Amino acid sequence: MTLFLPLVIIGGYFYPFIGFTIVGMIMFFMTLASKRGRLYCGWICPMGSFHERFLSKISLQNAVPLFFRQTWFRWFVFSTMMGFMTYRLYVAWGDAEAIGGVFRMMWIVSMTLAIALGLYYKARTWCVICPMGSFQGVMSKNTFRLHVSDDCIECRKCQRLCPISTYPGNFHNAESDKVPSINCLRCYNCVENCPKGALNFS
Ligand code: SF4
Ligand code: SF4
Repeated sequence: MTLFLPLVIIGGYFYPFIGFTIVGMIMFFMTLASKRGRLYCGWICPMGSFHERFLSKISLQNAVPLFFRQTWFRWFVFSTMMGFMTYRLYVAWGDAEAIGGVFRMMWIVSMTLAIALGLYYKARTWCVICPMGSFQGVMSKNTFRLHVSDDCIECRKCQRLCPISTYPGNFHNAESDKVPSINCLRCYNCVENCPKGALNFS
């Protein structure tokens, strides 16, 4: 999927209609989110795949800042990005080529922010506040969530392995023993590596 990035960003410069493929991707992940939460983020997203394959090799891998998980911050990023896109679409309205260019431009803006964050913090830090990820998280509030059993010994191995620094062990004695949908990419890193086998998806 990583190859999709240069296809849209470079190819879209010569043929802006390529930008419409992003609309197809949005429709696809919205459908998938209703069954599997943010699975798209964990396994399919071209940006996420770029961060894992390339950015992670040079990232300083500092922990994701705590306020990135705050609801207000996530929705601040969402409204800023969506407001900007809506304005650009309004300006481009009636010109299909220019509209395709708007979608491509949104990807360039997202990639620039994601690389800047991923160089200093964990490579996939952008995924914590990505507007499309937040949207999927809200759409799948109770879908296919990560469950933490009583076997958890709170060793924090899962948090160290999580690409977005989520700590599932935090939920083992909590009111809900499931990780909030928005905070999990369904990548299975923690499930496969928990020393107590305390994690599973339900
Ligand atoms: S790795 Fe497993 S046992 Fe350790 S904190 Fe996470 S869920 Fe608990
Ligand atoms: S490591 Fe676990 S908690 Fe983190 S994104 Fe992957 S599946 Fe979700």
